[in-house]
Amino acid sequence: VLRVRGLNKSFGSNTVLRGIDLDVPRGKVVALIGPSGSGKTTILRSLNGLETPDAGTVTVGARGTAGNGANGAGGGAGAVPQLPELTLDFGAKVTPREVAALRDRSAMVFQHYNLFPHMSVLQNIIEGPVRVQRRPRAEAVAEAESLLERVGLLEKKDAHPFELSGGQQQRVGIVRALALKPQLLLFDEPTSALDPELVDDVLVVIKELAEEGWTMVIVTHELAFARQTADEVVFMDGGVVVERGPASQVLRTPREERTQAFVRRLL
Ligand code: ATP
Repeated sequence: VLRVRGLNKSFGSNTVLRGIDLDVPRGKVVALIGPSGSGKTTILRSLNGLETPDAGTVTVGARGTAGNGANGAGGGAGAVPQLPELTLDFGAKVTPREVAALRDRSAMVFQHYNLFPHMSVLQNIIEGPVRVQRRPRAEAVAEAESLLERVGLLEKKDAHPFELSGGQQQRVGIVRALALKPQLLLFDEPTSALDPELVDDVLVVIKELAEEGWTMVIVTHELAFARQTADEVVFMDGGVVVERGPASQVLRTPREERTQAFVRRLL
């Protein structure tokens, strides 16, 4: 469902991405790991239309249908209709319309939640579906309430973000992303701003989404979580992919010296 080829990005003289390739089949989970400044966040932001790469292509959309076991009634990834393939070639001219279309296919969960502080939980969740996607308000509210119930936060729907714990805010951030029915879910270090005792509540939700067949890219420093949840782990350093492979291989028996050093430090 996601194919990235030759992604390059510089900020002034600082080259942050140097020819990144990435593939995430439908229903699969890829964890991006690597030292601070290696370019992980820049990749996610490029996939979400928040950053414009200098070169490379990004393709999001239908390509095969992995039986993801999530086609049951009541939501999950199976409730998201597959869209036709969309390719942006950043080496050529990319129109704002194409960037908007790319953004519409993915949804990002941010490290610092990024909820709108002046809006209630419910308003935060329905804002995108109603204002951007022009879906009927009643339908968006019903879906938001059922997603909130799922993560145990229905009784907080009228609260404001400042009245919630970090873990609760992040679960709202996840619900807000799901409500957009994206082809692709992007997580940018979703637990790194949380107090340790709140981390697990958020990781449990993300694991359930993986089991439901959502297609996800997760930037994380939680290597145990990556090992349990990701199909593939991609280790980046200095703007390049150093090593990639099945989660257990990259995290337990890394081939590259740089990966070994990184994994040893975090485990
Ligand atoms: P971290 O784990 O610390 O979040 P990261 O691997 O996600 O790191 P990025 O956030 O992608 O790394 O940043 C890669 C590099 O790009 C850093 O050197 C950063 O300073 C630089 N950078 C990122 N965004 C910008 C920007 N808007 N303007 C200038 N430089 C930027």
